Formats: sequence, structure tokens, C-alpha cells
Amino acid sequence: MTQPARPCGRFAPSPTGPLHFGSLVAALGSWMMARHRGGDWRVRIEDLDPPREVPGASERQLHTLQAFGMTADGPVWRQSGRHPAYADALRRLLASGDAFECRCSRSQLEATGGIHRACVANDSSRPAAIRLRLPDTTLEFEDSVQGVFRQSLAREVGDVVLRRSDGFWAYQLAVVVDDAAQDITDVVRGADLLDSTPRQIHLQRCLGLPTPAYTHLPLVLDADGQKLGKSLQSLPVDDSDPWPALIAAWRFLGQAPAALARSGKPELALQRALAAFDPARIPRVHGQPVSRIDTVR
Ligand code: GLU
Repeated sequence: MTQPARPCGRFAPSPTGPLHFGSLVAALGSWMMARHRGGDWRVRIEDLDPPREVPGASERQLHTLQAFGMTADGPVWRQSGRHPAYADALRRLLASGDAFECRCSRSQLEATGGIHRACVANDSSRPAAIRLRLPDTTLEFEDSVQGVFRQSLAREVGDVVLRRSDGFWAYQLAVVVDDAAQDITDVVRGADLLDSTPRQIHLQRCLGLPTPAYTHLPLVLDADGQKLGKSLQSLPVDDSDPWPALIAAWRFLGQAPAALARSGKPELALQRALAAFDPARIPRVHGQPVSRIDTVR
């Protein structure tokens, strides 16, 4: 009999800037869920896109996590060191016919709203991207917070870029390869990625990889009900005083306010709060709009 996999969660920030309140919610939610299930929690830096990277951002993000009492189990992975694993997955997908070369430009796909269902161009002077063929089926999965989510793959998503024509690896391939390579059983992240999940599950199936359990946390909206933009909430969380943002993130996740108290070190307070953590309390839609983090003291 095979052993059930040890629970394992992860937080996977892109190093495009300091952690803001929305990313803190994802970090705390994934940490709590992993620890609640008695599992490990890993951190993976998704540094696949050097032009968008901010120098020093990943070090700062790791420092922030530590200041907020969350320490990764095992080494921190960096996707920039994982290119051979992505190349290997791509080779298998090309060999099985699930992936193909594509030379369509963005403007050539305008007529289909940017969705690729079949190549409309083959200008061999252009460098090729590699896409994953998405079948004309509906894929459905159950998210532990958002409930059943279904998506018509060919109609709503279209063939997915796995390696861009400029040679960069796409997030969709890297996330699937790395979640499996790190034995992640529980993916907890923001609801902006709910829509990407069916294509990731399809890719897992093409590669013969297991599908983790998914939890998509409500998005953090600002006081006007907008997704976090250039507002107060997108300011970096304050490493020198983690409490206001930590308590606000805990409450945003719908958890009993009294269970996370400002006392002692954040890591000890999180350990204590863990006993009260209840995934069933996480709200499906955005929680309370957070108007000012620093009112939570
Ligand atoms: N790197 C992605 C981000 O920072 C998160 C990817 C994921 O959690 O799957 O938005």
C-alpha cells in the first residue's frame, strides 16, 4: 500500500518588489494551512522573468517572511536554477504531441481575443514559442474555498504558452513542474490564479503528475472595492513592526480575532494561533475591505 503523501504547502512569490498586504495574506494562508495539516511549508522564488525582477527583492521578501514569523522548511528554491527540469518536461510534451511550436504573433490572434486554438501563421523567420494544446473539453475541480470551478479549456483558455518566443519559460509550465518536484500537496494562493488552475491540472495530467488540493484565497480589495492597486494596501508591509499587518491578515482570513494576539515573538504567536485556525472560516469572496492596516493594533 502506498503511504499518503506528507502534507506540504508553499508560498511562491515573484521577486518583482517587496511583499505587500495581498502577498502576506497568501503567505499566512499557505503557512497556516500547511501547519494545520501537520505538514511542511516551502518557499519558492519564481524568478523566471529577469526583466521584471527588482534587484534585491527576493532577499527582502525572505527577510519579511522571517520578520512575520514564517520560516521555510528546507532550502528556498529559485526557478532560475530549474531550467533543466523545465526543458525535460517540454521535451516530453513535444514527444507526446501535447506541445507544439507556434509562430503566431499577438496581433494575429486579435480576432480570437488573444486565444490560440489553431496556428494562423507560420512565418519561419520568426522565433517559435512552444504551446500546450488544450482539448475541447470542460475541466472541473473543487477548490476548498471557492467550491466547484469549471472551465471550457479550448473555448475560454486556448493553447497555453509554455516557452515564450524570446526563450523565457512560462509560469504555467514552471509552477506545475515545481509543485510536483517539491511534493506540494496543498496549493494556497490568491483567487486571481483560480482561472489558471484548470490549465495547470491539464498540464499535470499530460505529464503524469499528481494534482494537489487547491485553496484560492479571497482577493484583498482596497476600501473602494478595487483589487489592490496603487493604494495604501499595496505599500510594503512593515518588517520593523509586523503586528498590525499580521493581525489584519489573520482577520482577513476570517479567523477568530482573539486567537492571534500581539504578544511575544510573531513566530510564537503564530504557533499559538494555529490551534484556533479553521479553514472553514476563510471567506469565499473578498473579506472585509481593508481600509487601513495600521488601525488594527
Ligand atoms: N509567483 C506567483 C505570484 O507571485 C504565484 C504563483 C502561485 O502561487 O502559483 O503571483
